[in-house]
Amino acid sequence: MNRTAIIAHCVVSYQVKIEILEKDESIIRLIIRDVDVTLMNALRRIALAEVPSMAIDEVVMIENSAILQDEIIAHRLGLTPLKTDLDSYNLPEECQCQSEFGCNLCRVTLTLDAEAKEGTRTVYSGELISENPNIVPVSDKVPIIKLAKGQKLKLEAYARLGKGKNHAKWQPVSVCAYKYLPKIEVTSKNCEDCAKCAETCPKKVLIMKGNKVDVRDLLACNLCMDCVEACPQEPKGIKVDWEKNAFIMNIESNGVLPANRILQEATKILDKQLKEFEEQLKVKEE
Ligand SMILES: [Zn+2]
Repeated sequence: MNRTAIIAHCVVSYQVKIEILEKDESIIRLIIRDVDVTLMNALRRIALAEVPSMAIDEVVMIENSAILQDEIIAHRLGLTPLKTDLDSYNLPEECQCQSEFGCNLCRVTLTLDAEAKEGTRTVYSGELISENPNIVPVSDKVPIIKLAKGQKLKLEAYARLGKGKNHAKWQPVSVCAYKYLPKIEVTSKNCEDCAKCAETCPKKVLIMKGNKVDVRDLLACNLCMDCVEACPQEPKGIKVDWEKNAFIMNIESNGVLPANRILQEATKILDKQLKEFEEQLKVKEE
């Protein structure tokens, strides 16, 4: 088997089994079986660093008589999560315009014109007016600045798609993690029902059912082994282990994209990267 064939083999040999534990717009929690840690980690890293999202990248200050400097306001605007439309916009480096300023396909303009007429007031993200009603702040309630009476802030901001590896403001996830699927066994012949393991577990995974130890919430177990240490028996009455090729994955979006879309995009990007790698190998072998 040549090297290219080995890569192709690796790609198709996964027969992944997925079980969805929880899914809504912002969270997806899955059990993924028959995969190895390398694939899980690749997906995790791609979701964090490679899945693009929209963020303000350039700000033109027209008027700023507030106390905060232009740079700090621009930084705050950059970190305000914006709803992202991956199907209508291009990454600036992949856009046909190849322009420094961008075009309608790689840039969205937002404007802000705020003034404190009556007294001190806070300017919130909801006051940003976008040229595209689909690209707006995820929340209207992100404070941008406080203006004292008579102060004004007027600016034009340009949002672009970008990747978390270049700046954290483009990271679409607030949580992206996986852990091994735990396996807990209570061996009745060694267990003397002292309940110490159930009392010790910080995640309340174990419970006493009658006078027997029972597993209440297996998925909450983080394999800390405190229950095993707490067991006074020798050999131990409780055994905690994990399944070698099964993981619980947890993705929490910061609102810019639905959580399941982030995972789908991560798999697409991994696929694309492997294909590019394969192409490179072909070129080298020719
Ligand atoms: Zn463009």
